[in-house]
Amino acid sequence: MISEKKDIRALSKEELRVFFESIGDKAFRGNQVYEWLWGKGIHTFDQMTNLSKETRAHLEANFVINHIHVDSLQKSNDGTIKNAVKLHDGLVVESVLIPTKKRTTACVSSQVGCSLDCKFCATARLKRMRNLNPDEIYDQVVAIDQESKLYHDRPLSNIVFMGMGEPLMNYKNVLEAIDKITHKEGLGMSPKRITLSTSGVPKMIKKLADDEVKFHLAVSLHSAIQEKREQIMPFAKSFHLDDLRESLEYWYDKTQRRITYEYVVWKGINDAREDIEALVQFCKYVPCKVNLIEYNPIDDGQFQQASLEATEAYIAALEKHRIPVTVRRSRGKDIDAACGQLANKQ
Ligand code: SAH
Repeated sequence: MISEKKDIRALSKEELRVFFESIGDKAFRGNQVYEWLWGKGIHTFDQMTNLSKETRAHLEANFVINHIHVDSLQKSNDGTIKNAVKLHDGLVVESVLIPTKKRTTACVSSQVGCSLDCKFCATARLKRMRNLNPDEIYDQVVAIDQESKLYHDRPLSNIVFMGMGEPLMNYKNVLEAIDKITHKEGLGMSPKRITLSTSGVPKMIKKLADDEVKFHLAVSLHSAIQEKREQIMPFAKSFHLDDLRESLEYWYDKTQRRITYEYVVWKGINDAREDIEALVQFCKYVPCKVNLIEYNPIDDGQFQQASLEATEAYIAALEKHRIPVTVRRSRGKDIDAACGQLANKQ
């Protein structure tokens, strides 16, 4: 049931201070409550043990804590863990913990479903139902941090916004969540360990640069030829490669941080010489690196991983032009936790 009471985590620290003053208490209580909510991540008012019983009852009467709830947890045989995360209104998103030798990465969702329509992505078929609130994004990270400590004996080291949704179509909430994740009163993580991955929304990429964000930017490119990109990512009709290029130049001018291009090579779609040449050309505009992602099949075979030779031809061409390139093997495939497979199947 959706409560009529206000979600206390929608209040800023200042608003909490004002609330306490308005009920004749000390403004300082606002700081204490804020610390419980964000620093300690508690789920109930009763856990706020430095507040009197009366104060806790008063909060209970006026507010709710809309905490997420990890509904089910699936473990892959490669150590990857996928969480089905239930939201206060019953909707579900997924987030993933990906352990490697050196790091544990949280892959988090920013929307329920997705605003965009990439043909090769399972999430796109869900359509966008709503944006996640900042606390719903933050909670996914906290839950994965706890799982990382529990199952891998170390805290979370990195975060990627590569789960469900297009983060730049939920700009304000994603940035608010990142603020909390990086703030010392939240998780205190370095923004250098966070990567936001976008399908490429030029206007919002410029806004990121204007807002002087300190995290990394990855762009899902998949083709540097406009007509082809439109075929596989139809929204690209409205977000032209020329505008994307301009926004990336703007980003680099302002931030001096190189961009990562994510790229899947598919058989018969983007595995020809002209595709490789177009990518190499695109990579010359702004300092960047290319991350070749293994394709995770989602359906009837319209999209198929290209041959090893095609991938090697990409690598050779990029290396020849001194463009750093890495190949990312998929993790968690057996539990549908890999890139593009998040679709609330459970
Ligand atoms: N909307 C954002 C973030 C979510 S998708 C974005 O597009 O970047 C995260 C990454 O997974 C993107 O690079 C996306 O292109 C890629 N992806 C989507 N479906 C995939 C699939 N079936 N196999 C491999 N990668 C996929």
